[in-house]
Amino acid sequence: MNNKKILLPESEMPRQWYNIVADMPTKPLPPLHPGTHEPIGPEMLAPLFPPALIEQEMTQDRYVDIPDEVRDIYRIWRPTPMFRAYGLERLLDTPAKIYYKYEGVSPAGSHKPNTAVPQAYYNKQAGVTKITTETGAGQWGSALSFACQHFGMECEVYMVRASYTGKPYRKVLMNTWGATVYPSPSDRTVAGRGILAQHPDSPGSLGIAISEAVEMALHDENTKYALGSVLNHVLLHQTIIGLECEKQLEMAGDFPDIVVAPFGGGSNFAGIGFPFLRHNLKEGKKIRCIAAEPTSCPKLTRGVFRYDLGDTVGMTPLLPMYTLGHDFIPAPIHAGGLRYHGAGAIVSQLLHDGLIEAQAHDQLSCFAAGIQFARSEGIIPAPEANHAIATVIQEALRCKEAGRSETILFNLCGHGHFDMGAYEQYLAGNLVEHEVTQAEINASLATLTTPLIPA
Ligand SMILES: *Cc1c(COP(=O)(O)O)cnc(C)c1O
Repeated sequence: MNNKKILLPESEMPRQWYNIVADMPTKPLPPLHPGTHEPIGPEMLAPLFPPALIEQEMTQDRYVDIPDEVRDIYRIWRPTPMFRAYGLERLLDTPAKIYYKYEGVSPAGSHKPNTAVPQAYYNKQAGVTKITTETGAGQWGSALSFACQHFGMECEVYMVRASYTGKPYRKVLMNTWGATVYPSPSDRTVAGRGILAQHPDSPGSLGIAISEAVEMALHDENTKYALGSVLNHVLLHQTIIGLECEKQLEMAGDFPDIVVAPFGGGSNFAGIGFPFLRHNLKEGKKIRCIAAEPTSCPKLTRGVFRYDLGDTVGMTPLLPMYTLGHDFIPAPIHAGGLRYHGAGAIVSQLLHDGLIEAQAHDQLSCFAAGIQFARSEGIIPAPEANHAIATVIQEALRCKEAGRSETILFNLCGHGHFDMGAYEQYLAGNLVEHEVTQAEINASLATLTTPLIPA
């Protein structure tokens, strides 16, 4: 087969998601109550999430059925195409074979609708009429707006103020799908008013916006909250990406040696990686799964593995995670989706156990990689995806040096059409390198009083 584009027939779209917890040698540690530090039960999550999602958050079943109603909506853009990157291979003059899965064909332009749709569906089933959420760069907010609109639910989005003013078209996208968007910190919540009293000009952060969205959901029994990454059920929903890739690579007569994805909270990395990692865990295969993160927010490569909060104010359960500390505010790099202080519990346990790898890249080298990709393959990647491309190029050049033909698969998790401002700055030579200093990381971690992971 010599086709560049590998299309999966619609009839081959997966009918189940894959839950890696079933196959993990060490199961992830339980979430803890932020006050008592005791493991929490499903009842503590009930004010925030509908029963079906709480069950998925805790299940150890290996496979979970995808509801027909969800598959119907998935069919708007799924199965997504996979491509063989002949152009990039030629540019790099590498013997490596490079494939990429393209999630930018979804209505919101990223992988996020893969979980927004089932989350909206299970909330609708439970009689919920409104969902609140936070958004950084706007990708999650737009995905959830699209999904809520589909099921006739209200969607209220707390958007990090710096993005609200800096990325106005993401907001318009959400408004177009019927959502209401507030800049965060806002004066609508106790959390937001508290921050504004101290810092009237606060640019906001994901942690603050999460606190606001959670608070609004706790106020009203018909309102629930949704998170676009980090949690186990979110990772579960994203595995449709890798399950499709498996079938598409089989059509191409190939199997990966390396699987790469950018890393924010872990959802698209888990999505493409976990179905392949399953072969390592069950059949002793040795696929390298590499998470690519920014040097300005390097929780996997330079963070600590301990319990930490998901938000700034302390309203979420404590999760076992690789973290830079919940008060860590990363530099305003352009890969907004990667500016989160921690990683999900499953991914953190896998990294701790040496079953996955992580690499950090500076935003300048990421944009250089993204431009090489755009010029050789055509598609303009989201700045987040550029982190994966930087890793892929590095690995492909290593293959060239060693004269080895390895097969590399990566997730092109979104397009960059809403990020032209960032490309404009890069092309004008105005982007700066950014790597957080050890002193900054130490200062953030020193403030943590959350429980350590028992040895
Ligand atoms: C949200 C987002 C990310 C980061 O989130 P993960 O949960 O780590 O996938 C990466 N890329 C894009 C395009 C995103 O929208």
